[in-house]
Amino acid sequence: MIEISNLRKYTHEGLTRLEADINFTDVESPYAEKTIYFEVDAAYGDMFADDTYDAFVLVPLYLAMYHKQDLHICGNISKKLYQNIKWYIPKIFCDFSDALSPVEFIVDGFSPPKPKGNLIGAGISCGVDSLSTIYDHFINETDLDYRINALFLFNSGTHGNFEDPSTQKFFQARYNRNINAADELGLPVYTVTCNLHAFTHKIAGMKSEYLAKFPFLAGAKAGYLGIYSCIFSLQNSIRRYYFSNGLSYEQIKKFSTYYHDYDMVGFCELYLVPLIQTERLELIIDGCQYRRVDKLKKIADWDIAQKYLNVCLDTTNDASNCGTCPKCLMTLMTLEILGKLDDYAKVFDIEQYKNDSFGYKIHCQQNYGKNPFETENVDFARENNFPMPTINEK
Ligand SMILES: [Zn+2]
Repeated sequence: MIEISNLRKYTHEGLTRLEADINFTDVESPYAEKTIYFEVDAAYGDMFADDTYDAFVLVPLYLAMYHKQDLHICGNISKKLYQNIKWYIPKIFCDFSDALSPVEFIVDGFSPPKPKGNLIGAGISCGVDSLSTIYDHFINETDLDYRINALFLFNSGTHGNFEDPSTQKFFQARYNRNINAADELGLPVYTVTCNLHAFTHKIAGMKSEYLAKFPFLAGAKAGYLGIYSCIFSLQNSIRRYYFSNGLSYEQIKKFSTYYHDYDMVGFCELYLVPLIQTERLELIIDGCQYRRVDKLKKIADWDIAQKYLNVCLDTTNDASNCGTCPKCLMTLMTLEILGKLDDYAKVFDIEQYKNDSFGYKIHCQQNYGKNPFETENVDFARENNFPMPTINEK
């Protein structure tokens, strides 16, 4: 059995922490951490919901199913979340990874009703998906019930491994860039740091060719559960949250099995997230109505995008675009097709791309139909009568 207990909130040295114990009762815990916690600047510690274990359910459930241990939450959770876990979510997890098995899920009770918060949130990474969501639901939205009024950045695994000291440094570098963009937009940015990636990044079985080059992708497997959990932790303040997905509906239909046991977002986020809700918090999957190339086309003339666009997978630099990783290259090729490369000279080395682009275009054509992004760039080139190099078949 895995037990989650002793939920508490406390402030120490300017930081407020929401914390609970995690205890393996029948087998030895393979993890160094004995607690799960979320941490914010004490100035906004009141945003933490400390009357519910909702933020402490999703990752422990995944761990319980992975280690084949029943899960006991020694306290209250949202009744809606409980019902969705009871009936639906474990089946989705089992479909995602063959390493998972159904387990008993026990809670002591249900959280009492509380008023909804005032914040309509979205993440800010200054990537194409994030900027597209902000463009649609802040710049172009007038209904205050749906217009973004706060941005969030979570340190829950997508910036590197928990134990690695450079993770915090990289998170800070990303924060520094994002806060400048948010300031220009006139929106506040709230950050949450947690230790969920001390658990999620230890789960074995990632596709190794990606891990070797981009170790932080270990977070992709179950790491997004960490982001949903960070949002849950702030339920006192957040009532609605736009979650940017990088794939279109059509691509998810076509390529979801490509993400099996590798990335939950591509595999099942579209139907998982509508189940990850509570009585006072709504998560909305945004962005699937577009392909990535269409999002970039939509925001390409926006000055915020031209100044701050950041798509890079490389976590060893100062949070700028390397220009050579798969995400930098796919973005540059789309900008080239749009005739907008020079507008992005502040955030990319355009000359370097011109040297590398031939090989990348060949690569895209050779991988046509095999993964979503290279396929859509080739389609986008065709739609725009953009000349592509010819492949010499051997
Ligand atoms: Zn890059």
